[in-house]
Amino acid sequence: NLSTRFSKIIKTMRGQARLTEENTAEMLREVRMALLEADVALPVVRDFVAKIKEKALGEEVISSLTPGQALVGIVHGELVNLIGGEYDARAVELNLATTPPAIVLMAGLQGAGKTTTVGKLAKRLVEQKKKVMTVSCDVYRPAAIEQLKSVTAQSGAEFFPSTPEQKPADIAAAALDYAKKHYIDVLLVDTAGRLGIDEVMMNEISALHAQLKPIETLFVIDAMAGQDAVNTAKAFNDALPLTGVVLTKLDGDSRGGAALSVRHITGKPIKFVGVSEKIDGLDAFHPDRMAQRILGMGDIISLVEEAHKNVDMEQAQALAKKIKSGKGFDLNDFKEQLAQMKKMGGVATLMDKLPSQMTQGAGNIDMDKADQQLRRTEGIINSMTPLERAKPELIKASRKRRIAQGAGLHVQEVNKMLKQYEQMRDMMKKFQGGGMGKMMKMMGG
Ligand code: GDP
Ligand code: MG
Repeated sequence: NLSTRFSKIIKTMRGQARLTEENTAEMLREVRMALLEADVALPVVRDFVAKIKEKALGEEVISSLTPGQALVGIVHGELVNLIGGEYDARAVELNLATTPPAIVLMAGLQGAGKTTTVGKLAKRLVEQKKKVMTVSCDVYRPAAIEQLKSVTAQSGAEFFPSTPEQKPADIAAAALDYAKKHYIDVLLVDTAGRLGIDEVMMNEISALHAQLKPIETLFVIDAMAGQDAVNTAKAFNDALPLTGVVLTKLDGDSRGGAALSVRHITGKPIKFVGVSEKIDGLDAFHPDRMAQRILGMGDIISLVEEAHKNVDMEQAQALAKKIKSGKGFDLNDFKEQLAQMKKMGGVATLMDKLPSQMTQGAGNIDMDKADQQLRRTEGIINSMTPLERAKPELIKASRKRRIAQGAGLHVQEVNKMLKQYEQMRDMMKKFQGGGMGKMMKMMGG
């Protein structure tokens, strides 16, 4: 499985100081296999691996981190980028900014989860105090209309009845007319799907789109779609101006590779994921969570553990004891603190490896700058005498000038660093697991 695969990559790369053309090629083969195993479609894997290669080559690998780890970091970062970048609550909400009713048209193969998703969306919108109505244009399966009626009842939305004898276009026209007269805010239009791509189905949904001019056209796809996801997504994307994607059945054992395929092919945002059959089983889409799922969350956790192992526990405990004993936190301790941070791979690498919930509050740090600052601070402390480090209060103007000169920096930098030290000292006094994010933010200045 994937975890084993990445462990193998990391093991292979252990002890090598740089990502070279050869060892990168070796690792990229493994990444390719890993992605294929997560059911990312082949052409997407190819493009993705090419992009990773570009990034990985030449990337400096910081001190104790192995190239394997660095690569996983790069793969994870790029994966997040490709499936939607940073989570943005506004981007995943439905766009309803139009003269009511805002029409949402569902598209997708039979069994993808369209009808279920209409129910879930209806509930979500009802909770947002919208006046919602659903209608089914699926006249091919008699049970389909009943199914929508039933999920709509659970959602608290209004249901517009239709029958299998009607034409989809007539149903749509009648529903729209009713919605306008009754001041409906959102009209959710369920449609028929086929088992495979089919011209009749495509023509029908295209006609419905032209007739209704929906503000949202959501493509619904089963996360288990695997390699088929590309062809299906391409066909729907070519036929319809999609505005978003819903990835269903993520509660299954799919690795979620379809997310990457669909995003790559359509370029449209994944807005929601289906996480159960139940009416409330719909979540906003989080790219970073999906990336972790595709790569295997266990890998990320093990990387964090590995990073922590590199920290000298004894030193850390001695420091904690010293602070507790009230002896104070001098510049030697500060330097120790920085050295440990560097050991873990520097601020940027460290932040990359940590699950987002651990780094909350550190969101807007410029990582490169933070690492640069870290090195600079270390340089300044190195230019001090042991006495100065133990008694920072001794450092007045002339000492500052000498230290600045030794570190090849301006005196302002020394002042800035001393201020940082004081802040950290004060924080250490209060520090009771105040969170990594806060500390990182300080380091970033
Ligand atoms: P449609 O043909 O596109 O309308 O698909 P349906 O909405 O009828 O869903 C097909 C099947 O998938 C039904 O049995 C649903 O209960 C199930 N389903 C839909 N979404 C999800 C989901 O997110 N998780 C799970 N476990 N089942 C789902
Ligand atoms: Mg249906």
